[in-house]
Amino acid sequence: LDPDTFAADSSAVIDFLAGYYRDVDKYPVRAASLEPGRLRKLLPDSAPEWGEPMDAILDDVRRDVLPGLTHWQSPSFFAYFPMNASSAAFAGEMLSVGLNVVPFVWVASPAAAELETVVMDWMAKLIGLPDRFLFGGGGGGVLQGSTCEAVVCTLAAARDRAMARIGIGHEGILKLVVYASDQTHATSQKGARLVGIPPANFRVIPTSSADGYALAASSVHAEVERDVARGLVPLYLCATVGTTGLGAVDPVRELGDVARRHGMWLHVDAAYAGAAAVCAEHRGHLADGAELADSVSMNPHKWFLTNMDCCCLWVADPTHLTAALSTDPEYLRNVDGVAGGEKLAGDGAVDYKDWQISLSRRFRAMKLWFVLRRYGAEGIRGYIRGHVAMAEWFERAVGGDGRFEVVAKRRFSLVCFRLRGDGEEVDGVNRELLAAVNGSGRAFMTHFVVEGKFVIRLAVGGAMTEMRHVRDAWELVQRTADQLLLERRR
Ligand code: PLP
Repeated sequence: LDPDTFAADSSAVIDFLAGYYRDVDKYPVRAASLEPGRLRKLLPDSAPEWGEPMDAILDDVRRDVLPGLTHWQSPSFFAYFPMNASSAAFAGEMLSVGLNVVPFVWVASPAAAELETVVMDWMAKLIGLPDRFLFGGGGGGVLQGSTCEAVVCTLAAARDRAMARIGIGHEGILKLVVYASDQTHATSQKGARLVGIPPANFRVIPTSSADGYALAASSVHAEVERDVARGLVPLYLCATVGTTGLGAVDPVRELGDVARRHGMWLHVDAAYAGAAAVCAEHRGHLADGAELADSVSMNPHKWFLTNMDCCCLWVADPTHLTAALSTDPEYLRNVDGVAGGEKLAGDGAVDYKDWQISLSRRFRAMKLWFVLRRYGAEGIRGYIRGHVAMAEWFERAVGGDGRFEVVAKRRFSLVCFRLRGDGEEVDGVNRELLAAVNGSGRAFMTHFVVEGKFVIRLAVGGAMTEMRHVRDAWELVQRTADQLLLERRR
């Protein structure tokens, strides 16, 4: 690594990216080319024998790669949940990538591990989690790559806790049951499979429009009673604050009561909407009842100005996590008698390898620390409120056009809407509408299906999105609908 080459190559990339961000709204939002195999045809069959200049590589990125990208940072990206970025996070990421340290045990990079503990406590306070999730309160947090990983880790902790408690042997795993709703992210089901829960023991509890698609505690209770009567053991309940499809909010306190009564692990998945909890008006969903949870997770890479990847996972009692995930090979022990994470965890000397699946890990705390310091809590609140206001505007606009309906109550910055009517034909028109909007390249949205109805989702959350982009998106939807409906009448 030659420092001069490093400086020259890095500034070439920074110039490239600055240009990209200046023009990002000019690219078709969804990939311009959807031809499978296109890039393979453009690139050589094997790696070059000799190194090439940076300019040549960046030219290829511009010419061959960019047209095949969907521009997630476009201000007109309203699909899935947008993934955030900011200059602050990029600066932090550059530093952590540049320093390239690996804080798997505390002694392997003490300040990196400690910064993570500090940032996790800051984040927990910001979103109103109870003190029991703070390091000083007996809990603690870790930065992982995704909610999926966080859920797998908590399921493993819950499984081992339950098996130790009830003293069942390996075959006992066949009795453990996991509960979620039909709106819960598929990651819970995947996680349950990965930790050995039989697929038949994963309960998908239906929700309804009457409850705003939230998981009713009474339904969980009834399902649990049935399972207990059959000799099964309730293990894990996933509550979601801000479901992926519709943004629904499960009642954490009521679900927490059911979980406590039956000795289940309660995980609260606030992957998207956890960010909104920095604002007092959105905090209650997560904070009310969080003291009953065993773990909580949220993704700063979704709506907290932090680029991929960054998932916060807090646990109330880290010993369950470390019991399930710790390893102690000779080659990771310290000979100087300093570390031994658990002994010193109260001081922030955490061996983070025991809080996650992999051993090696990224120094993610740096970028989140930069975001928190550059924006401050008030800056982040303003950012979230701005997006919610844009979604409110869009919701009102949809409500003001008699041809459309808002399908589920708007939550946070997600609006789910469709052309009115029932039946497959109307669904077909809505599908065509979404395809035409996305095909225009001027905006990108995705869909969901609820109670058999095809629904278009507009998720506001791009770091460069302004009111004018939301207005343009609505005009595009209206114009496209005008055209489609006219053609259908002919
Ligand atoms: N949970 C919820 C509520 C989500 O919305 C998502 C993704 O959108 C996930 C979990 C999965 O997150 P990840 O991609 O970080 O695993």
